[in-house]
Amino acid sequence: MTTTKQELYDVLLGLRETYRDKVAQMESAQVLDITGTGYTNHQAEDATAVYEQTVGASTLRAAQTRLRQIDEALAKYADGTYGVCENCGQEIDIARLEAIPYTTLCLRCAETRDYQAGV
Ligand SMILES: [Zn+2]
Repeated sequence: MTTTKQELYDVLLGLRETYRDKVAQMESAQVLDITGTGYTNHQAEDATAVYEQTVGASTLRAAQTRLRQIDEALAKYADGTYGVCENCGQEIDIARLEAIPYTTLCLRCAETRDYQAGV
């Protein structure tokens, strides 16, 4: 049985909920971290707190970026352009969408882009 775009839409809705929760949790955790930093006299503890805060910030950014990609994919679905490659205008392979439902590029264009970016 082949996955339909309707099913992928449902997957995206689920992912959006997951990432919304994740981002909200990390945002509130970060506020606590920032408030907590600098109030201990122990230097090593402070360093650890700063390190954890940095890791938290990059994880938060990654989750925010993912959430934006999911929102964009849902907007495309509403436009009727979901699953169409942004670069070449070809239909993105359904197997690729199953793996990465929020992708905006077909495999060929993604590989070309990664190659150009030096990845
Ligand atoms: Zn393409």
